[in-house]
Amino acid sequence: MKHLLMIVLLALPLTAHAKLKVVATLPDLAAMAREIGGDQVEVACIGKPSEDPHFIQAKPSNIVLLNRADVLIENGLELEIGWLPALLDQTRNGRIRVGAPGHVIAAVGVPLLDVPTGPVTRAMGDVHPGGNPHFTVDPERGKIAAKNIAEGLKRVAPQFAAEFDANLV
Ligand SMILES: [Zn+2]
Repeated sequence: MKHLLMIVLLALPLTAHAKLKVVATLPDLAAMAREIGGDQVEVACIGKPSEDPHFIQAKPSNIVLLNRADVLIENGLELEIGWLPALLDQTRNGRIRVGAPGHVIAAVGVPLLDVPTGPVTRAMGDVHPGGNPHFTVDPERGKIAAKNIAEGLKRVAPQFAAEFDANLV
């Protein structure tokens, strides 16, 4: 009986506290979220490293992932415009809706590069009307993206704010 009680007490903290479910659109954002979220998060990624981030094949399993998510991290600057809005339309999860606390846009505040001045068509190749969204490879811009991710995690789980901040540096 005494042993049984011990086992119950040891098992409690593990079951009482579930990890924050984070979904990232792209692998580099997922890597940042794992780094910053540490032990408090469980990170899934929609896009595979082998996929073109502009044209990701949205699968039914992605909707399941998004319906369970506490936090969604997207790159922004219209990088995912070809597939993410359609996927979110099929998702019934107010926590990660555009504008909700759990919806993180990594590009917020990133200084824009290559904003085209004339009309943009796909015939011009990889040109984005809102500026170049392929910024996470740049260390300085990547830092801003990481900070946005940390802010998002803190909005959703303020009890771990100190831990997220510590992981950010
Ligand atoms: Zn592009």
